[in-house]
Amino acid sequence: MVGLGYYSTDLLAPALQQTKDCYLAGIVTGTPSKAEAWKKKYNIPDKNIYNYQNFDQVANNPDIDVIYVVLPPSMHHEYVVRAAKAGKHVWCEKPMAITALQCQEMIDACSNNKKSLAIGYRLHHEPNTQEYSRIVNKQLLGKVKHVKCAAGYVDNRTNHWKQNKALGGGVLYDMGVYAIQGARLGTGKEPVSIISAKTSTTRPEIYKDGLDETTIATLEFPGGVLADIKTSFGENINFLDISCEKGSINMAPYSIYNGLQGNSPLGEIYFPYEVPWQQAKQMDDDAKSIKTGIAMLVPGEEGLRDITIVNAIYKSAATGQVVKL
Ligand code: NAD
Repeated sequence: MVGLGYYSTDLLAPALQQTKDCYLAGIVTGTPSKAEAWKKKYNIPDKNIYNYQNFDQVANNPDIDVIYVVLPPSMHHEYVVRAAKAGKHVWCEKPMAITALQCQEMIDACSNNKKSLAIGYRLHHEPNTQEYSRIVNKQLLGKVKHVKCAAGYVDNRTNHWKQNKALGGGVLYDMGVYAIQGARLGTGKEPVSIISAKTSTTRPEIYKDGLDETTIATLEFPGGVLADIKTSFGENINFLDISCEKGSINMAPYSIYNGLQGNSPLGEIYFPYEVPWQQAKQMDDDAKSIKTGIAMLVPGEEGLRDITIVNAIYKSAATGQVVKL
Protein backbone atom coordinates (compact mmCIF):
# COMPACT_ATOMS: atom_id res chain seq x y z
CA MET A 1 0.00 0.00 0.00
CA VAL A 2 1.46 3.34 -1.11
CA GLY A 3 0.32 6.42 0.85
CA LEU A 4 -0.90 5.89 4.40
CA GLY A 5 -3.44 8.70 4.72
CA TYR A 6 -7.12 8.66 5.65
CA TYR A 7 -8.40 6.10 3.17
CA SER A 8 -5.55 3.61 3.72
CA THR A 9 -5.65 4.00 7.50
CA ASP A 10 -9.40 4.06 8.16
CA LEU A 11 -10.77 1.85 5.37
CA LEU A 12 -8.31 -0.17 3.30
CA ALA A 13 -5.99 -1.52 6.00
CA PRO A 14 -8.93 -2.56 8.23
CA ALA A 15 -10.58 -4.12 5.16
CA LEU A 16 -7.39 -6.09 4.48
CA GLN A 17 -7.93 -7.77 7.86
CA GLN A 18 -11.19 -9.17 6.44
CA THR A 19 -10.06 -10.21 2.96
CA LYS A 20 -9.57 -13.87 2.08
CA ASP A 21 -7.56 -13.58 -1.15
CA CYS A 22 -5.09 -10.83 -0.23
CA TYR A 23 -3.34 -9.34 2.79
CA LEU A 24 -1.25 -6.32 3.69
CA ALA A 25 2.30 -7.45 2.89
CA GLY A 26 4.13 -4.11 2.84
CA ILE A 27 3.90 -0.33 2.93
CA VAL A 28 5.38 2.73 1.24
CA THR A 29 5.44 5.90 3.31
CA GLY A 30 7.48 9.08 3.57
CA THR A 31 6.86 9.33 7.32
CA PRO A 32 9.12 7.19 9.55
CA SER A 33 6.70 7.40 12.53
CA LYS A 34 3.91 5.96 10.35
CA ALA A 35 6.20 3.16 9.20
CA GLU A 36 6.88 2.30 12.85
CA ALA A 37 3.20 2.40 13.85
CA TRP A 38 2.00 0.32 10.88
CA LYS A 39 4.84 -2.16 11.33
CA LYS A 40 3.68 -2.84 14.89
CA LYS A 41 -0.05 -2.78 14.18
CA TYR A 42 0.03 -5.02 11.11
CA ASN A 43 3.14 -7.07 11.78
CA ILE A 44 4.98 -5.91 8.66
CA PRO A 45 8.62 -7.03 8.32
CA ASP A 46 11.27 -4.30 7.86
CA LYS A 47 12.21 -5.67 4.44
CA ASN A 48 8.68 -4.85 3.21
CA ILE A 49 8.74 -1.19 4.28
CA TYR A 50 9.70 1.36 1.64
CA ASN A 51 9.83 5.12 1.23
CA TYR A 52 9.14 7.12 -1.93
CA GLN A 53 12.83 7.14 -2.90
CA ASN A 54 13.61 3.42 -2.60
CA PHE A 55 10.12 2.30 -3.72
CA ASP A 56 11.39 0.89 -7.06
CA GLN A 57 13.40 -1.76 -5.19
CA VAL A 58 10.06 -3.48 -4.59
CA ALA A 59 10.85 -5.11 -7.95
CA ASN A 60 13.16 -7.48 -6.05
CA ASN A 61 10.61 -8.37 -3.37
CA PRO A 62 8.68 -11.59 -4.06
CA ASP A 63 6.48 -11.03 -0.96
CA ILE A 64 4.67 -8.27 -2.82
CA ASP A 65 2.38 -9.10 -5.74
CA VAL A 66 0.19 -5.99 -5.95
CA ILE A 67 0.85 -2.27 -5.37
CA TYR A 68 -2.19 -0.25 -4.25
CA VAL A 69 -1.66 3.48 -4.98
CA VAL A 70 -3.61 5.58 -2.47
CA LEU A 71 -1.93 8.96 -3.00
CA PRO A 72 -3.22 12.41 -4.01
CA PRO A 73 -4.48 12.20 -7.63
CA SER A 74 -1.58 14.12 -9.18
CA MET A 75 0.76 11.33 -8.00
CA HIS A 76 -1.24 8.36 -9.33
CA HIS A 77 0.35 8.41 -12.80
CA GLU A 78 3.94 8.34 -11.53
CA TYR A 79 3.39 5.61 -8.95
CA VAL A 80 1.27 3.37 -11.17
CA VAL A 81 3.91 3.53 -13.92
CA ARG A 82 6.73 2.86 -11.43
CA ALA A 83 4.79 -0.06 -9.92
CA ALA A 84 4.14 -1.59 -13.35
CA LYS A 85 7.82 -1.18 -14.28
CA ALA A 86 8.70 -2.95 -11.02
CA GLY A 87 6.71 -5.90 -12.38
CA LYS A 88 3.76 -5.67 -9.98
CA HIS A 89 0.02 -5.71 -10.55
CA VAL A 90 -1.48 -2.33 -9.74
CA TRP A 91 -4.59 -1.08 -8.01
CA CYS A 92 -5.09 2.68 -8.18
CA GLU A 93 -7.51 4.87 -6.32
CA LYS A 94 -9.97 7.16 -8.06
CA PRO A 95 -9.73 9.64 -9.72
CA MET A 96 -7.39 7.65 -11.94
CA ALA A 97 -5.25 10.67 -12.95
CA ILE A 98 -5.51 14.29 -14.07
CA THR A 99 -5.58 13.86 -17.85
CA ALA A 100 -6.80 11.20 -20.27
CA LEU A 101 -3.26 10.98 -21.67
CA GLN A 102 -1.89 10.07 -18.23
CA CYS A 103 -4.59 7.40 -17.88
CA GLN A 104 -3.62 5.90 -21.24
CA GLU A 105 0.05 5.86 -20.24
CA MET A 106 -0.85 4.05 -17.00
CA ILE A 107 -2.87 1.47 -18.95
CA ASP A 108 0.00 1.03 -21.43
CA ALA A 109 2.62 0.69 -18.67
CA CYS A 110 0.65 -2.14 -17.08
CA SER A 111 -0.10 -3.92 -20.34
CA ASN A 112 3.50 -3.57 -21.59
CA ASN A 113 4.69 -5.20 -18.38
CA LYS A 114 1.93 -7.85 -18.59
CA LYS A 115 0.39 -6.71 -15.30
CA SER A 116 -3.24 -6.03 -14.51
CA LEU A 117 -4.60 -2.65 -13.47
CA ALA A 118 -7.74 -2.00 -11.43
CA ILE A 119 -9.27 1.29 -10.32
CA GLY A 120 -10.68 1.56 -6.79
CA TYR A 121 -14.31 2.08 -7.79
CA ARG A 122 -15.68 0.09 -4.86
CA LEU A 123 -19.32 0.54 -5.94
CA HIS A 124 -19.00 -1.73 -8.96
CA HIS A 125 -18.37 -4.54 -6.48
CA GLU A 126 -21.37 -3.88 -4.22
CA PRO A 127 -24.86 -5.39 -4.50
CA ASN A 128 -27.13 -2.30 -4.36
CA THR A 129 -25.24 -0.76 -7.29
CA GLN A 130 -25.30 -4.07 -9.14
CA GLU A 131 -29.06 -4.33 -8.58
CA TYR A 132 -30.00 -0.91 -9.99
CA SER A 133 -27.58 -1.54 -12.88
CA ARG A 134 -29.32 -4.85 -13.56
CA ILE A 135 -32.75 -3.17 -13.69
CA VAL A 136 -31.37 -0.56 -16.10
CA ASN A 137 -29.44 -2.93 -18.34
CA LYS A 138 -32.26 -5.48 -18.61
CA GLN A 139 -34.73 -2.61 -19.20
CA LEU A 140 -37.00 -4.07 -16.50
CA LEU A 141 -38.67 -0.64 -16.24
CA GLY A 142 -38.38 0.10 -19.94
CA LYS A 143 -35.93 2.56 -21.42
CA VAL A 144 -34.18 5.19 -19.30
CA LYS A 145 -35.57 8.67 -19.98
CA HIS A 146 -33.55 10.89 -17.65
CA VAL A 147 -31.02 10.66 -14.78
CA LYS A 148 -30.26 13.01 -11.90
CA CYS A 149 -27.29 12.34 -9.68
CA ALA A 150 -25.56 14.28 -6.91
CA ALA A 151 -22.52 13.50 -4.78
CA GLY A 152 -21.09 15.89 -2.23
CA TYR A 153 -20.15 16.54 1.36
CA VAL A 154 -19.09 19.57 3.36
CA ASP A 155 -15.28 19.69 3.35
CA ASN A 156 -14.07 22.34 5.77
CA ARG A 157 -10.37 21.82 5.18
CA THR A 158 -8.49 24.77 3.71
CA ASN A 159 -5.14 23.41 2.51
CA HIS A 160 -5.62 19.71 1.87
CA TRP A 161 -4.78 18.36 -1.62
CA LYS A 162 -8.51 18.56 -2.40
CA GLN A 163 -8.13 22.34 -2.25
CA ASN A 164 -4.83 22.36 -4.20
CA LYS A 165 -4.94 22.36 -7.98
CA ALA A 166 -1.37 21.09 -8.44
CA LEU A 167 -2.10 17.98 -6.37
CA GLY A 168 -5.28 17.13 -8.28
CA GLY A 169 -7.80 19.05 -6.22
CA GLY A 170 -11.24 20.24 -7.27
CA VAL A 171 -14.53 18.58 -6.49
CA LEU A 172 -15.18 17.21 -9.97
CA TYR A 173 -12.09 14.97 -9.76
CA ASP A 174 -12.85 13.89 -6.22
CA MET A 175 -16.63 13.49 -5.75
CA GLY A 176 -17.60 14.33 -9.31
CA VAL A 177 -16.42 10.97 -10.61
CA TYR A 178 -19.12 9.36 -8.44
CA ALA A 179 -21.77 11.57 -10.05
CA ILE A 180 -20.38 10.72 -13.50
CA GLN A 181 -20.46 7.04 -12.54
CA GLY A 182 -24.08 7.49 -11.41
CA ALA A 183 -24.94 8.98 -14.81
CA ARG A 184 -23.11 6.23 -16.71
CA LEU A 185 -24.41 3.32 -14.64
CA GLY A 186 -27.87 4.94 -14.39
CA THR A 187 -28.21 5.15 -18.17
CA GLY A 188 -26.16 2.03 -18.89
CA LYS A 189 -24.57 4.04 -21.71
CA GLU A 190 -21.61 6.27 -22.51
CA PRO A 191 -22.20 10.03 -22.91
CA VAL A 192 -21.85 11.57 -26.37
CA SER A 193 -21.47 15.18 -25.26
CA ILE A 194 -21.42 17.66 -22.42
CA ILE A 195 -24.36 19.99 -23.14
CA SER A 196 -23.42 22.52 -20.47
CA ALA A 197 -21.40 22.81 -17.29
CA LYS A 198 -20.71 25.37 -14.59
CA THR A 199 -18.14 25.49 -11.82
CA SER A 200 -18.60 27.74 -8.80
CA THR A 201 -17.56 28.44 -5.24
CA THR A 202 -19.08 30.25 -2.27
CA ARG A 203 -15.67 30.15 -0.53
CA PRO A 204 -13.25 31.86 -2.94
CA GLU A 205 -10.70 32.25 -0.14
CA ILE A 206 -10.34 28.43 -0.14
CA TYR A 207 -11.21 27.43 -3.74
CA LYS A 208 -8.66 29.59 -5.59
CA ASP A 209 -7.05 29.44 -9.05
CA GLY A 210 -10.30 28.42 -10.70
CA LEU A 211 -10.63 25.35 -8.44
CA ASP A 212 -14.23 24.14 -8.21
CA GLU A 213 -16.07 23.78 -4.90
CA THR A 214 -19.26 22.93 -6.80
CA THR A 215 -19.81 21.74 -10.37
CA ILE A 216 -23.04 21.07 -12.23
CA ALA A 217 -23.24 19.59 -15.71
CA THR A 218 -25.71 18.14 -18.19
CA LEU A 219 -24.48 15.10 -20.08
CA GLU A 220 -26.16 13.85 -23.25
CA PHE A 221 -26.37 10.11 -23.88
CA PRO A 222 -27.37 8.22 -27.05
CA GLY A 223 -31.06 8.61 -27.91
CA GLY A 224 -31.21 12.12 -26.45
CA VAL A 225 -31.22 10.88 -22.85
CA LEU A 226 -29.92 13.61 -20.51
CA ALA A 227 -28.25 13.30 -17.12
CA ASP A 228 -28.01 16.25 -14.74
CA ILE A 229 -25.19 15.89 -12.27
CA LYS A 230 -24.07 17.95 -9.31
CA THR A 231 -21.03 17.59 -7.10
CA SER A 232 -19.95 19.78 -4.21
CA PHE A 233 -17.56 20.24 -1.28
CA GLY A 234 -20.09 22.66 0.20
CA GLU A 235 -23.20 20.50 0.53
CA ASN A 236 -24.10 17.07 1.89
CA ILE A 237 -25.87 15.48 -1.08
CA ASN A 238 -26.02 11.87 -2.23
CA PHE A 239 -28.71 10.50 -4.52
CA LEU A 240 -29.31 8.89 -7.90
CA ASP A 241 -32.72 9.17 -9.60
CA ILE A 242 -33.23 7.15 -12.77
CA SER A 243 -36.49 7.92 -14.60
CA CYS A 244 -37.57 5.06 -16.81
CA GLU A 245 -40.62 4.51 -19.04
CA LYS A 246 -42.40 2.46 -16.35
CA GLY A 247 -41.33 4.33 -13.23
CA SER A 248 -38.23 5.55 -11.39
CA ILE A 249 -35.37 4.02 -9.47
CA ASN A 250 -34.51 6.31 -6.57
CA MET A 251 -31.31 5.52 -4.69
CA ALA A 252 -30.38 7.58 -1.60
CA PRO A 253 -27.69 7.32 -0.50
CA TYR A 254 -26.16 5.67 -3.54
CA SER A 255 -22.40 6.00 -3.15
CA ILE A 256 -21.28 6.04 0.49
CA TYR A 257 -19.57 3.22 2.43
CA ASN A 258 -22.74 1.50 3.66
CA GLY A 259 -26.47 2.01 4.05
CA LEU A 260 -27.06 2.28 0.31
CA GLN A 261 -30.74 1.87 -0.42
CA GLY A 262 -33.44 2.66 -2.90
CA ASN A 263 -36.85 1.95 -4.34
CA SER A 264 -38.43 1.28 -7.66
CA PRO A 265 -41.83 -0.07 -8.76
CA LEU A 266 -40.12 -3.49 -8.63
CA GLY A 267 -39.59 -3.13 -4.87
CA GLU A 268 -36.97 -2.08 -2.35
CA ILE A 269 -33.26 -2.22 -3.13
CA TYR A 270 -31.46 -2.82 0.16
CA PHE A 271 -28.51 -5.13 0.77
CA PRO A 272 -27.00 -4.11 4.14
CA TYR A 273 -23.44 -4.65 5.40
CA GLU A 274 -20.96 -3.02 7.74
CA VAL A 275 -18.03 -0.73 6.86
CA PRO A 276 -15.44 -1.69 5.45
CA TRP A 277 -17.16 -4.59 3.67
CA GLN A 278 -17.14 -2.76 0.29
CA GLN A 279 -13.38 -2.29 0.36
CA ALA A 280 -12.78 -5.93 1.37
CA LYS A 281 -15.09 -7.17 -1.38
CA GLN A 282 -13.38 -4.95 -3.98
CA MET A 283 -9.88 -6.15 -3.03
CA ASP A 284 -10.93 -9.82 -2.88
CA ASP A 285 -12.65 -9.53 -6.28
CA ASP A 286 -9.52 -7.93 -7.75
CA ALA A 287 -7.20 -10.48 -6.11
CA LYS A 288 -9.34 -13.31 -7.52
CA SER A 289 -9.09 -11.74 -10.98
CA ILE A 290 -5.31 -11.80 -10.73
CA LYS A 291 -5.20 -15.37 -9.41
CA THR A 292 -7.57 -16.73 -12.05
CA GLY A 293 -6.53 -14.50 -14.94
CA ILE A 294 -10.06 -13.22 -15.54
CA ALA A 295 -10.64 -9.58 -16.48
CA MET A 296 -10.77 -6.95 -13.76
CA LEU A 297 -14.29 -5.74 -12.97
CA VAL A 298 -12.98 -2.15 -13.05
CA PRO A 299 -9.99 -1.98 -15.41
CA GLY A 300 -7.94 1.14 -16.19
CA GLU A 301 -10.18 1.85 -19.18
CA GLU A 302 -13.05 2.57 -16.75
CA GLY A 303 -10.98 5.26 -15.01
CA LEU A 304 -9.91 6.66 -18.39
CA ARG A 305 -13.56 7.05 -19.46
CA ASP A 306 -14.35 9.13 -16.38
CA ILE A 307 -11.28 11.33 -16.68
CA THR A 308 -12.12 11.98 -20.35
CA ILE A 309 -15.55 13.15 -19.16
CA VAL A 310 -14.06 15.22 -16.30
CA ASN A 311 -11.75 16.98 -18.78
CA ALA A 312 -14.71 17.62 -21.13
CA ILE A 313 -16.88 19.02 -18.32
CA TYR A 314 -14.14 21.46 -17.31
CA LYS A 315 -13.74 22.45 -20.98
CA SER A 316 -17.47 23.07 -21.35
CA ALA A 317 -17.52 25.12 -18.12
CA ALA A 318 -14.56 27.21 -19.28
CA THR A 319 -15.82 27.84 -22.83
CA GLY A 320 -19.59 27.83 -22.35
CA GLN A 321 -19.74 25.48 -25.36
CA VAL A 322 -21.11 22.01 -25.99
CA VAL A 323 -18.18 19.57 -25.88
CA LYS A 324 -18.45 16.39 -27.96
CA LEU A 325 -16.95 13.22 -26.55
P1 NAD B 1 -5.00 11.79 2.48
O1 NAD B 1 -4.57 13.19 2.26
O2 NAD B 1 -5.62 11.45 3.76
O3 NAD B 1 -3.76 10.81 2.25
C1 NAD B 1 -2.84 11.01 1.21
C2 NAD B 1 -1.53 10.34 1.57
O4 NAD B 1 -0.57 10.66 0.57
C3 NAD B 1 -0.96 10.81 2.92
O5 NAD B 1 -0.48 9.70 3.63
C4 NAD B 1 0.19 11.71 2.51
O6 NAD B 1 1.25 11.71 3.48
C5 NAD B 1 0.65 11.05 1.22
N1 NAD B 1 1.40 11.95 0.37
C6 NAD B 1 2.56 11.64 -0.23
N2 NAD B 1 3.03 12.69 -0.91
C7 NAD B 1 2.17 13.69 -0.75
C8 NAD B 1 2.11 15.05 -1.22
N3 NAD B 1 3.05 15.55 -2.02
N4 NAD B 1 1.07 15.80 -0.83
C9 NAD B 1 0.09 15.31 -0.07
N5 NAD B 1 0.08 14.02 0.41
C10 NAD B 1 1.13 13.24 0.07
O7 NAD B 1 -5.95 11.42 1.25
P2 NAD B 1 -7.00 10.23 1.15
O8 NAD B 1 -8.33 10.76 1.50
O9 NAD B 1 -6.47 9.05 1.85
O10 NAD B 1 -7.03 9.99 -0.42
C11 NAD B 1 -6.00 9.26 -1.09
C12 NAD B 1 -6.58 8.70 -2.40
O11 NAD B 1 -7.65 7.82 -2.08
C13 NAD B 1 -7.18 9.75 -3.33
O12 NAD B 1 -6.98 9.37 -4.66
C14 NAD B 1 -8.65 9.72 -2.98
O13 NAD B 1 -9.49 10.16 -4.03
C15 NAD B 1 -8.84 8.24 -2.73
N6 NAD B 1 -10.00 7.95 -1.87
C16 NAD B 1 -10.90 7.05 -2.32
C17 NAD B 1 -12.01 6.75 -1.58
C18 NAD B 1 -12.98 5.73 -2.08
O14 NAD B 1 -14.08 5.62 -1.51
N7 NAD B 1 -12.64 4.96 -3.10
C19 NAD B 1 -12.21 7.38 -0.36
C20 NAD B 1 -11.26 8.29 0.10
C21 NAD B 1 -10.15 8.57 -0.67
